Amino acid sequence: MSTSPIPNDLSAYWLPFTANKAFKAAPRLITGAKGQFYTTADGRTVRDGFSGLWCSILGHGHPLVTEAIIRQAQALDYSPAFNFATPAAFELASRVAAQFPAGLEHVFFTNSGSEAVDTALKMALTHHRARGEGTRTRFIGRVNGYHGVGFGGLSVGGMANNRKFFGPGLPGVDHLPFPYDPTLDAFTRGEPQRDPMLYLKELEAIIALHDASTIAAVIVEPMIGSAGVFIPPAGYLQKLREISERHGILLILDEVITGFGRLGAANGASFFGITPDLCTMAKGINNAAIPMGAVIASRQIYDTILNATPTGVEFFHGYTYSAHPLAVAAGLATQQAIHEEGLYEHVARLAPLFEEMLHSLRGEPYVTDIRNLGLAGGLTLAPHPDGPGLRGYQLFVKAYELGVAIRSNGDTIAIAPILNSNEEDIAQVIELVRRALRALA
Ligand code: PMP
Repeated sequence: MSTSPIPNDLSAYWLPFTANKAFKAAPRLITGAKGQFYTTADGRTVRDGFSGLWCSILGHGHPLVTEAIIRQAQALDYSPAFNFATPAAFELASRVAAQFPAGLEHVFFTNSGSEAVDTALKMALTHHRARGEGTRTRFIGRVNGYHGVGFGGLSVGGMANNRKFFGPGLPGVDHLPFPYDPTLDAFTRGEPQRDPMLYLKELEAIIALHDASTIAAVIVEPMIGSAGVFIPPAGYLQKLREISERHGILLILDEVITGFGRLGAANGASFFGITPDLCTMAKGINNAAIPMGAVIASRQIYDTILNATPTGVEFFHGYTYSAHPLAVAAGLATQQAIHEEGLYEHVARLAPLFEEMLHSLRGEPYVTDIRNLGLAGGLTLAPHPDGPGLRGYQLFVKAYELGVAIRSNGDTIAIAPILNSNEEDIAQVIELVRRALRALA
């Protein structure tokens, strides 16, 4: 594996979602990756305990995916996304659609989760207009939700730091309450068993206030991911589906993290047994080897939008790189590997073991809460006296020093093992996190 010297000049590159000054004082430079491990510029090996950023679900450099990309680059590097298509794009769309509940049928490709979210919001608006319900323009998100960084996604998102610098965002957005109570739910395994209406009464209040005829869609993550892995109470999503449907409000599930196996099912909709109107996805769709996202829409939404325009373009939206041939090739290879490796069943089998190992961190220094679903794990740490977020960041840095990459958001820590991990891989991730917690104490 290649190692490169540390660059002399670190100033030109402005890193996203990163404390740039701290990073540049002690950069973490990755030069290679294979399977479960990164290689760093200083020649170390670091275990990937976060699947990249939830995305490298099959591990790094999966041979099927790598070879597919190389072959595709040689055969067709690019073809225009508008008014042209490749046969492979149709095949990937069919493969993806086959994994969602019946009724979700039409796949629109984007290049990221953020783009998928904004695409889904625009589909919702277009759909309502096409049915003569153009007054439905409001959206409902959720506190602590993360829906990417486009102005649509940040408006429906509910993480304060991601919103507060950027003005009012989209008009007409309300937020459902955070569906988790750290005092009551701490150390719950899987879904908390509490009345979901505790958190959904607010939805009925929002509908009563604005009238359903003004509300286009509600968007939630099946499991709150980026804010630190928070699982809503059992029955929450089913209830949300029921209420939104009753009022003609579209339900968008943001499956950017939960799509393609994280919960031990093809997606969160299947895992929770509900049929939303739109789902966003990205990350695992092609093992993150080339940027890609997508939205899947119900037959009803697709038909309504297409039928409203007898000739010409029906949906004024798209990206130069939608269904990019390299991304599609990586997608088909990823879907093949998922199938051949029986990935979703594998995750479902491993999940109880992961739960057991993760919750063995209870009692370690600073740990005030542990949460899990599928192969997603969250910890909350007691804040450092010098301020919120410091403890989480310190643990992230210490874990990296000890040889495992995880993720912190404030004082929450997320762990997301590569989905084709074995028991030993998971045990290693947890033990390295344990050592990091102890080393901090
Ligand atoms: N939605 C959710 C639920 C996500 O987790 C993410 C990324 N973590 C996004 C949207 C945004 O995806 P991207 O970073 O690819 O724009």
